[in-house]
Amino acid sequence: MRLLALLLLCLALPVHAEGFISRLLHKPVPGGVAVLQLGSGASAPQVRFQGKPVLTVKEDGRQWIAIIGLPLTSQPGAAQALVDGQAVAFQIGSKHYREQRITLKNQEQVNPSPANLQRIERELAEQTLAYQQFSPRQPSNLLLDKPVDGPLSSPFGLRRFFNGEERNPHSGLDFAARAGTPIKAPAAGKVSLIGDYFFNGKTVFVDHGQGLISMFCHLSKVDVQLGQELPRGGLVGKVGSTGRATGPHMHWNVSLNDARVDPAIFIGAFKP
Ligand SMILES: [Zn+2]
Repeated sequence: MRLLALLLLCLALPVHAEGFISRLLHKPVPGGVAVLQLGSGASAPQVRFQGKPVLTVKEDGRQWIAIIGLPLTSQPGAAQALVDGQAVAFQIGSKHYREQRITLKNQEQVNPSPANLQRIERELAEQTLAYQQFSPRQPSNLLLDKPVDGPLSSPFGLRRFFNGEERNPHSGLDFAARAGTPIKAPAAGKVSLIGDYFFNGKTVFVDHGQGLISMFCHLSKVDVQLGQELPRGGLVGKVGSTGRATGPHMHWNVSLNDARVDPAIFIGAFKP
């Protein structure tokens, strides 16, 4: 009898109410995104993954979802997030990332001198701090706009060999575009860091809210100031080839809960 009641209850509930954002963003692989459905409670659930706060939004005004960035170094298999202190399990699948071999004329960009290594370390610390910010604002949009009008070139996650030596995998997505092409904010946000870095060249960080952060690299010109509020589509700067670049292009990182994830997911261009 109780079973029948339960069965009737299940039939009365709507079919797993999963919205468009969940379906588009849920790519639970290393370097991808896991979307967890968290019910329709009155207040936002507090979600943490690997000790870091996680973006939560109410989808279609009904269901709370957590949007978790999965680092490229994630191991496929069982994973868990903490939702209001309770463990919630989910699965991480696997993904094969290709190799890319790049030849650089400037050997210093392959094996930097001790002085440059010091500089690189300092710059890395500065950028890591920017990725760890978690501002309370809700992102204006989660399906992001392409920041540059141009074709995609190097994808996220490529295992890269510079002059035959393996270095960090590609942490972002490249757009092929001429020098001077405008770069526009893919969602509203606040300019949280501007730098001129050894590898990334002229760089702008935009904090879209709740740990969703964009980084734009190799700019020829920066058109914003630190702390500036940008509307969706606001001008960030111009495409260039500053830093470690073989030619003009725009490198875009997207970070969630301090994990660099594949930006292609957010513009509907993800390839499994
Ligand atoms: Zn790149």
